[in-house]
Amino acid sequence: MVKKQKIVVIGAGPVGSLAALYAASRGNDVEIYELRGDLRDPSTTPLNFTKSINLALSERGLNAMRHAGQPKLIDHVKAATIPMRGRMIHGKKPNGQLYEEAQDYDIHGRAILAIDRGGLNKRLLDILEEMPNVTFFFNHKLTGADFNKNKAWFEVKDGTSSGEKGQRAREIEIDFNFMIGADGAHSAVRYHLMKYTRMDYEQQYIDTLWCEFQIQPKENPEDDSLMSKFRISPNHLHIWPGKKFMFIAIPSDDGTFTCTLFAPAEFYTFLESDPSGAHIPDFFDTYFPGVTDLIPPRPIDLLLSLQPPPPPHQHQMQALPLQFLGRYRDAAHAMVPFYGQGMNAGLEDVRILFDILDKHARMDEETVDHDPASARERALDEYSRVRVQDAHAINDLALQNYVEMRASVLSLSYRFRKWLEEQLNVWLPGLGWQTKYSRVSFGNERYSEVVRKSEHQGRVLMRALTGLLFGALGGPLVAVGVVMAVRYRRAVDV
Ligand code: FAD
Repeated sequence: MVKKQKIVVIGAGPVGSLAALYAASRGNDVEIYELRGDLRDPSTTPLNFTKSINLALSERGLNAMRHAGQPKLIDHVKAATIPMRGRMIHGKKPNGQLYEEAQDYDIHGRAILAIDRGGLNKRLLDILEEMPNVTFFFNHKLTGADFNKNKAWFEVKDGTSSGEKGQRAREIEIDFNFMIGADGAHSAVRYHLMKYTRMDYEQQYIDTLWCEFQIQPKENPEDDSLMSKFRISPNHLHIWPGKKFMFIAIPSDDGTFTCTLFAPAEFYTFLESDPSGAHIPDFFDTYFPGVTDLIPPRPIDLLLSLQPPPPPHQHQMQALPLQFLGRYRDAAHAMVPFYGQGMNAGLEDVRILFDILDKHARMDEETVDHDPASARERALDEYSRVRVQDAHAINDLALQNYVEMRASVLSLSYRFRKWLEEQLNVWLPGLGWQTKYSRVSFGNERYSEVVRKSEHQGRVLMRALTGLLFGALGGPLVAVGVVMAVRYRRAVDV
């Protein structure tokens, strides 16, 4: 066990809260500093200014929570989830008829879990609240850090609620033994750490912006059960693959669906030239058939409703850019959300970080002159070495999955490979064959291993299929060859 230390966590999102739980359950004094107010306070402005976002929680996130030393945590979290056992692909046939096609994620029926990000976060905060060695500091914004002297500075807003006008700001200074940066994609910790360490850093934006919609519950459900409130299947992640665009819907535990539109920036520029939204229904009917029936009366009304009131002028919509960080040398990394792994990977980071810290602390205990600080340095070095490969791997997988979700799910080759790999998994279990999706979402193998194994499977399949094809065509080809050779011989003889 790591010796009792003052551990400071920056950011009380899902990852920061779990990191605080890991640190506190090892007996450390933990302080959590959060820029915004307490999420559990209804007056706190949610992250991204929307209600919240619905996320897919999968095995890696669950596994990290399983190891947090809080037996009740998993049941507590799972109670607020809805299992999604596959994708529901929506489209239109050439004759104009709408169709939906269910594609299970996994031949064994395993499901990913839809969860409200805010709800999960609140549950983690509730558990932390009960721990005597944890202190929260809300409305505290990290403004500076000195990693040589282990000091940090925060801007503190004194007031009743976050964002309130007229709040006075003051600065405080704290010290710490160890700081964990979990302050999101635009991390201030990462920014300040760069001044103290040689850090490779790269950030790219993809040409895709996202904004949110809601599908409301049925007005007249058949009965009082939650399930009968949903207007489309609650046990699927719904996808309208629009090739250049994508619209998805994830169920919430109140009978609604939180939907996200992903579209290139030019789409939003086009919208600005159409402030009345007159063209939006046509656009939706072309790319996301059936959606306008689920989101009455007109999607533009929902786009407008995304705007924090009052709408300033005609740029009414709030669309947020998607970003990913390529190379990094610290714990923080961000990725595009198309594999549903951003938070899962962040939670897994916490588990791996503390496993490695524990290992080095144990090794340090066995030495004559303990030096927890240098043991931690060695641990962080190992963590960076190990985790950087996996961060690259999941970044790449997430980018590839955008193509898969908005286009490949419709292709025959994609479906054939998925079917074949699942059959091999069931009928030849000894081969250890699995689809890439299963490895990422239902397992805990390193992301870099997932990529390696999936590429290997792809090569083996390609060789086997090429062999089969030549085998099948071999007979006829030889016959044609013989006939042509005989004809040629005759022609030469003549
Ligand atoms: P955040 O949730 O960003 O929290 C960071 C916290 O730090 C915030 O509370 C913030 O207020 C605070 N903070 C920021 N700056 C400071 C400062 N200077 N001082 C103090 N505090 C500060 N992931 C999945 O696993 N599955 C999904 O299905 C999924 N879907 C997604 C869909 C969309 C559209 C998007 C955008 C993301 C999705 N993600 C998904 C990713 C997921 O939302 C993030 O990975 C996750 O929220 C990261 O959690 P976090 O705690 O690291 O950071």
